[in-house]
Amino acid sequence: MLSAIPVLAVLGYAAQTAASKASYRYASVADNYKGQYGEVIQRDVCVIGGGASGVHAAVSLKDKGKTVVVVERLNRLGGNTLTYVDSITGIPIDIGVVVFQPLPAVLRFFDKFKVPLANTSTLTANVPGQPANLSVPAPLYQTIQTYTDLRDGSGVNITRDDLSIGPALAGLAAVMAKYSYILDGFQTLPHPVPEDLVMPFGDFMTKHNLTAAIPIVFQVGQGLGSLLQLPTLYVIKYFNLGDVAALREGYLTQAQGNNSLLYVRAASYLGPSNILFESTVISANRRRTPSNRAELLVSARDGGVRLLSCAQILLTIPPTLSNLAGWDLTPDEHAVFSQLTGATGYWTGLVRGVGLNQTVAHQNAAATTPFQLPVLPALYQVAAVGVLEDVWWVKLGADTATLPDEQVRARAVREMQRVQAAQGVPVTEPEWLMFDSHAPFMLHAGAEVIRGGFYKRLAGLQGGLGGRMFYSGAAFHTHYSGYLWRYNEDVVIPMMTRKS
Ligand SMILES: Cc1cc2nc3c(=O)[nH]c(=O)nc-3n(C[C@H](O)[C@H](O)[C@H](O)COP(=O)(O)OP(=O)(O)OC[C@H]3O[C@@H](n4cnc5c(N)ncnc54)[C@H](O)[C@@H]3O)c2cc1C
Repeated sequence: MLSAIPVLAVLGYAAQTAASKASYRYASVADNYKGQYGEVIQRDVCVIGGGASGVHAAVSLKDKGKTVVVVERLNRLGGNTLTYVDSITGIPIDIGVVVFQPLPAVLRFFDKFKVPLANTSTLTANVPGQPANLSVPAPLYQTIQTYTDLRDGSGVNITRDDLSIGPALAGLAAVMAKYSYILDGFQTLPHPVPEDLVMPFGDFMTKHNLTAAIPIVFQVGQGLGSLLQLPTLYVIKYFNLGDVAALREGYLTQAQGNNSLLYVRAASYLGPSNILFESTVISANRRRTPSNRAELLVSARDGGVRLLSCAQILLTIPPTLSNLAGWDLTPDEHAVFSQLTGATGYWTGLVRGVGLNQTVAHQNAAATTPFQLPVLPALYQVAAVGVLEDVWWVKLGADTATLPDEQVRARAVREMQRVQAAQGVPVTEPEWLMFDSHAPFMLHAGAEVIRGGFYKRLAGLQGGLGGRMFYSGAAFHTHYSGYLWRYNEDVVIPMMTRKS
């Protein structure tokens, strides 16, 4: 039997065709799907995507007296924030978002929901080689660092001149300070874009004599893939001035090691009638509706559909063409989004039963590559969480977002098994406690496209369709929750709530 959505889609297409032939009136989603949905959900703002950006925006808009509904594909809010809670000990382990730069927007948002934060520099983790301190969030567990090539499990002899890292980071901060406007969103990029921001990051670091900082940028910038080839703009937007300061002075993290608490509380604040879980937009008409409001048809988790009638829409999901199938994209939207041709992949999970020495972490490295960075796709490291016996945090990065989850898991297990074999411990099939795909992670455009004014055109979409359509999220700003919240507070919410 065909699933409900394709059948509805076919019916909708037929209705639209008939309507346009009969009257030349632009068929509305409401007309197309008449009888398929019950009550129309009418809100001031329909927020698409319930990750860091969508949730913050929905909460801020509600605070400003707007009615909202959030459409989220998963059965929870938080997007890349994901927490495993051990059923026996109750110990939480964040395996997605862990730390935040100490920005006022971060403090405000956590404070609103009475979720306590702690500065990592004030927390006393264990001495490497010693057992974990259970009162400190799990990701801060300290291990003895070794370098291993996960292509064969062999040790890699890395002689990094630690003394040159500090000056290289300071030098990087000085260069980044010239371009600090990029922290305010891609819309602030000048045109023409400075060549420093467009050139491959590896060339940029070589040009400024900063290559000693590349390994640490790679480590903090997990999810960026093989960053040496990426236009510099993407790397220094992600690993930014705030990171250089936070590496010195500490990041913020949820005091109990459970960032998901923020989103659980935000969900209760928004209320169940204002969140559609396990839902996606399957059809949109944002332009020519009889009500002069945008209509979104959404597949709901009960298998049915809901019709949303929205005065405004805020899109926070990765704006890929596949994510926007069913949307009535304008030529401008289509032209801009189709140029986001690059996407990195980032996957995270927890496994039990690796049997390696838990006090030693194996950072993935390669002896013969530039700066001894690992060859992706690959695990970033094999490292225990310390707070639970023989449980390991697995994060895999790739320059593509298209690896199937099964392939990612198989690759992760193979790489762990190579370390087991090389270390002379039994080769096991670890048990997956949790696994989550964050692909596509970072959407990016090519250097020529950026030079040609891509981000000017992207910024031009903001407030489009006569002030009906707005955008936030990582593709419009940057991959850091705090900066997204600041961007929402400074740019998106003021635009959306401005009285015309
Ligand atoms: C493993 C990992 C670790 C990270 N660590 C940190 C960290 O320590 N600190 C930090 O600040 N940032 C970290 N990040 C970056 C983090 O991703 C961003 O801070 C932030 O989550 C981006 O928010 P967003 O709302 O743009 O996207 P997301 O959080 O990805 O939210 C998008 C939401 O939209 C939903 N969605 C997607 N497609 C659809 C659709 N078609 N219909 C409906 N809903 C859809 C998704 O399920 C998701 O909930 C990490 C990311 C990952 C993956």
